[in-house]
Amino acid sequence: MTANIIDGKAVALATETEVANAISSLPWRPGLVAVRVGNDPASEIYVRNKAKKARELGLEGTELVFPETMSEDGLLREVARLNADEAVDGILVQLPLPKHIDARKVIDAIAPAKDVDGFHPINVGLLHQGRSTLAPCTPSGVIRLIESTGEGIDGKHAVVIGRSDIVGKPMGALLLQRNATVTICHSKTRDLPAVARQADILVAAIGRPIFVTAEFVKPGAIVIDVGMNRVEPDFAPRLAHDPDKSRLLEKNGSVLLGDVDYARVREVASWITPVPGGVGPMTIAMLMKNTVDAAIRRRA
Ligand code: NAP
Repeated sequence: MTANIIDGKAVALATETEVANAISSLPWRPGLVAVRVGNDPASEIYVRNKAKKARELGLEGTELVFPETMSEDGLLREVARLNADEAVDGILVQLPLPKHIDARKVIDAIAPAKDVDGFHPINVGLLHQGRSTLAPCTPSGVIRLIESTGEGIDGKHAVVIGRSDIVGKPMGALLLQRNATVTICHSKTRDLPAVARQADILVAAIGRPIFVTAEFVKPGAIVIDVGMNRVEPDFAPRLAHDPDKSRLLEKNGSVLLGDVDYARVREVASWITPVPGGVGPMTIAMLMKNTVDAAIRRRA
């Protein structure tokens, strides 16, 4: 069996069109503010792309950049100002923050109604109670990708590898809400391949390149790869079986890999997400959707 590919770019585009249509029917422009502290190069790209995508879809997208030396109190005051600003519907603070700032304190200070990342404990609690809330963007995007296959989630056994607050745990909660039987695995799980092999839906959110091999996958499973790992030429021997990725590594000096060994797992799964072009594009699309949802809830 060769798996069907889940096209994350196409599903993200459909989501963005839905968001743009919702915005065009509103009498005001929802506002998203992305806050960045310091000059981490990856954060710089993420924040700029989020603000740009917001503007493309008709949102008021603003990027606020503060120096690395900004104090925790200074950032908390800024969050309080954004909480009180009627024109701001969504606030996101890009992580990681400089070491002298307690990220948890900052996230806890964001008004839950404007917490478009879905990281505030009130929103986390609502999600785990199965109530309507702003849910984290990456796992919400994964749900849309699974739904795009036309295979139902109800009653399936979903195995999530990874238990982070950002991906693994909310992923489990969203799958449970949709009546999957959910198993969440982590670094202490015994005989992980055997547990993973029970999955009708397998979600990998680990942060280890091509960790999930064919022996983890039940024939016919849906496999979603959240991982994003950039590898350098020293990884080449482990990619010998994958001519496409090997070629890219040789040409560019590095290559982006998922947590799933795509070349081998696609021979076993029924559906699979590629990296790049799978989960990645969904995260930003769901952030835009959360911002519009937050605006409608707060102002309607
Ligand atoms: P994280 O906070 O580092 O969590 C990784 C999880 O994987 C932990 O729960 C850890 O278990 C588990 N794990 C690590 N090694 C393992 C092993 N050998 N066996 C089983 N479980 C193991 O990472 P994250 O933030 O969830 O991100 C995971 C991956 O997704 C990363 O590659 C990240 O770049 C990517 N990501 C992508 C997007 C996107 O938009 N595409 C968004 C977010 C994250 P313990 O809890 O026991 O340590």
